[in-house]
Amino acid sequence: MAEYICPHCKQPIYDDEALLCLYCGQSLMRPVGFMGKLKYPAPKIIMIFIVVLLLVSFTILIIR
Ligand SMILES: [Zn+2]
Repeated sequence: MAEYICPHCKQPIYDDEALLCLYCGQSLMRPVGFMGKLKYPAPKIIMIFIVVLLLVSFTILIIR
């Protein structure tokens, strides 16, 4: 466990897993948090991409 000082409100955060500040709710902007953040939106982007791809192919089918 390492103390981390929030860049926004300067409060110490002791939770290594926390991506957001417990006091002000802002991103802690630390490398671990950044990687953790990247891990989660990726499947969401893939899902949106698949939905858009399906909609485009469906539209092409209707137009033809
Ligand atoms: Zn804060």
